[in-house]
Amino acid sequence: MSDTFVIVGGGLAGAKAAETLRAEGFAGRIVLIGDETERPYERPPLSKEYLLGTGARDKAFVHEGSWYAANDIELLLGVRVTALDAHRRTLTLDGFEPLAYDRMLLATGARPRRLDIPGTDHTGVRYLRTLPDSDNLLASLTEGARVVVIGAGWIGLETAAAARKHGAHATVIETAALPLHRVLGDEVATVYANLHRAHDVDLRLSSGIAEFLGAGGALRGVRLADGSEIPADVAIVGIGVQPNVELASSAGLDVDNGVLTDASLRTSDPAIYACGDVANSDNPLIGSRIRIEHWANALHGGPAAAKAMLGQDMTYDRVPYFYSDQYAPGMAYSG
Ligand code: FAD
Ligand code: NAP
Repeated sequence: MSDTFVIVGGGLAGAKAAETLRAEGFAGRIVLIGDETERPYERPPLSKEYLLGTGARDKAFVHEGSWYAANDIELLLGVRVTALDAHRRTLTLDGFEPLAYDRMLLATGARPRRLDIPGTDHTGVRYLRTLPDSDNLLASLTEGARVVVIGAGWIGLETAAAARKHGAHATVIETAALPLHRVLGDEVATVYANLHRAHDVDLRLSSGIAEFLGAGGALRGVRLADGSEIPADVAIVGIGVQPNVELASSAGLDVDNGVLTDASLRTSDPAIYACGDVANSDNPLIGSRIRIEHWANALHGGPAAAKAMLGQDMTYDRVPYFYSDQYAPGMAYSG
């Protein structure tokens, strides 16, 4: 009987791991399970090319639809893995028979942190993580629309730039004194503040949001912590993400701000690996554990985990890298 390798999480990391397993000659069964209904896609275009209207939706997909069957990869879409029994090496799937594995990869990524304030259920309050989120947001970024963005991180600034590109008004509310300050520091954060102001974005720094205001269930504005109100048709919440660790933690794997792995991306269970946004991995180059929430880490972490699953001698010690495009300037950050 050939081995069964199961990948939980149909994002970039999971798809790249499946691709690498086959490319490295693995002839056993590969099952790739994702709870979204779209086949694996890359998320960067969701706040950039696709949201700006300059890139086709199809360009986001990691592989052609036919690629999975052609490579004998069983792709289960719209299927949630609800439990992991690490002792019996079995997964419980929503609506399917339990699935046994010989090796398993957790590539479950992350989900948006939710704002816990009154009014979050008004239509018009949006998060951006998935392709359908981006479809809906694109439809609402119309000429003259009043858009309020909560959080001046990557989602906040990239969607503010997209709003301006479509002729919408954009206000950004951020608790820190500068956008992206924690990541980029004073000097570069100031460049981004000036860039957005030059594009007529109303930056409300050192500000907090208290409430979404609605009329008949629809958003009509936001109230800030200082009591002031800003009218809004759309509010985009981008206040960070939390790693999807629940399967791992309920199965008793070591978890601490992500699923803990060694430098070979192996978790505390020798048959289970983790990569991408969900993994908090030893990086010998840096000399500590790090959990990275960026595209390049999913792109390279998936293949690295696949090689480790195949028993290859693999140390994942890449220099962390990310990039962003806002208006004309692009930026890339290594380190
Ligand atoms: P994810 O992409 O989160 O995929 C994990 C998948 O697993 C999801 O589909 C999830 O629903 C599924 N899943 C979770 N639990 C289960 C379960 N129990 N059963 C079944 N399926 C499950 N990074 C950059 O470096 N540059 C950028 O420009 C950039 N732009 C971005 C723009 C947007 C709008 C977003 C949201 C992110 C962006 N990122 C960017 C970050 C980058 O996209 C992520 O780091 C990357 O998606 C992580 O990939 P992943 O495969 O680890 O996880
Ligand atoms: P993020 O980059 O972590 O930024 C969140 C921002 O929201 C931070 O500036 C944070 O401030 C602020 N914030 C937190 N709580 C707040 C509150 N209650 N009110 C106002 N502001 C608040 O997360 P994100 O922008 O939501 O992005 C989500 C994920 O997608 C991240 O993993 C990100 O890396 C990824 N992504 C990456 C890119 C890229 O690399 N170009 C593009 C889009 C998305 P503090 O820092 O002070 O907490």
